Amino acid sequence: MELSSTQKTLKLSDTIERYQNGSFSISGNGEIKLDEAALKVLGFVIQWSDDGTVGTLTKVKDGEVVLSEEEMAFAATAAGFTELISAVARKIYDHPQMAFTETHACELLCEVFSAQGFEVERNLRGVNPITKEAWTMDTAFMATLRGNADGPTIALLLEYDALPDGHACGHNLIASAGLTAALMLAKQMEVLPGKLVVYGTPGEEGKAGKAHMVEAGLFNGVDVALTTHPGDRWATGSDFLATKTATIVYKGVPSHASAAPEKGISALDAAVIAYNAIELQREHLRSDARVHGFIRDGGKVTNVVPDRAEMDWGVRALDNIYMEKLADMIERCARAGALATGADMEISWSVTYGAPVKVEALDTLVIRLAEALNPGLIKPFDVLGSSDVGNVSFELPTCNLWFGITPEGIMPHTKEFLAASGASESIPSVLTAGTVIALAARRLFKDQKLVQDYKTAFELSKQKLIAKG
Ligand SMILES: [Zn+2]
Repeated sequence: MELSSTQKTLKLSDTIERYQNGSFSISGNGEIKLDEAALKVLGFVIQWSDDGTVGTLTKVKDGEVVLSEEEMAFAATAAGFTELISAVARKIYDHPQMAFTETHACELLCEVFSAQGFEVERNLRGVNPITKEAWTMDTAFMATLRGNADGPTIALLLEYDALPDGHACGHNLIASAGLTAALMLAKQMEVLPGKLVVYGTPGEEGKAGKAHMVEAGLFNGVDVALTTHPGDRWATGSDFLATKTATIVYKGVPSHASAAPEKGISALDAAVIAYNAIELQREHLRSDARVHGFIRDGGKVTNVVPDRAEMDWGVRALDNIYMEKLADMIERCARAGALATGADMEISWSVTYGAPVKVEALDTLVIRLAEALNPGLIKPFDVLGSSDVGNVSFELPTCNLWFGITPEGIMPHTKEFLAASGASESIPSVLTAGTVIALAARRLFKDQKLVQDYKTAFELSKQKLIAKG
């Protein structure tokens, strides 16, 4: 039999008996046994017709993931949660709460996890990565479910914070997709080794909540983390830009702008000098660099020399190290303004959103699982915004699955995206995204070697990233 072509149909005649274990023999002149597991190793699968009389031998495309019957049955369990997931997505959407105030979503999710037998821990200890101060993250939680034996610890990351105008980034759907995966896996943990830990991670928007959780060591002992984010397509392995934001305050000397201008020091002048200096530096930046800022406060009235000015600057780059260089540039330019005018200056930086350490093999597995479920447009992203998932990815192998809820080209943080995040039409994608990461987690629970491979790949990827800087 020729196995090199892409597809062969094996028609089984009366003289061929198919055995339950997947091999079959041909009686008569000689016996041929084909073992499906062995064929799989060779890169072939047999898909049997419903009546079991026709088997189609298919050469699997490079890297294609084929779901086993068991996995297909597992994937089908997602449908049973449709009502619950729709309700949770809707409730969080209808009660949008911004970073670190997400009491409603936190309460709701913890209730569901408790009811499902998870051990729920709330009021987690976070640590501010800049000040190193510990504080209580009262909208963060961990929900743990142990398997039937020791094994890998797999984390699911759920977000649920909103923007000022509501869930325009669809974090209500991240919580819902993660919940889908957790509920699917909950039924399996009785027969799987390891530990499933669901992290409720608040304050993604503007507060880098996960950075506080990383700093507190909350992810210690986790082997692999999986999460999702809605978008206009299905993708993994996308770039997030490392970013942080500076607030610069100048203090000058007030004086009557007409009667005694010589006695004044203009804080606004200092800000303008800094602004222009930063703009002039643009020519010399790497093409992935993003620098954006504005002056928030530049005086009150025309007849008083402005004694206070305040501005914000954000810097972003594809890696943490270059992003830090941009931050140094901002500081130099800011000091130039103070030096030139004699104004005092204070600069304070936000918590860093890290660029991701990518584990290509893990990203590939997850997107191929999505492909196997055939969810819609699968297409890699160009450069995007930033996420505190990057901070987690610096600690352990982490995969973020983008799932499509809008037509191509509609970006998060827009009115259109806000509408899609609340639409019932998005729920099938949420369920599929949950199913994809549940399937990935299930494979990881079952295969300690796979987990080890991803951890090794993660270390290599991280070292490469550090060396690049
Ligand atoms: Zn987001």
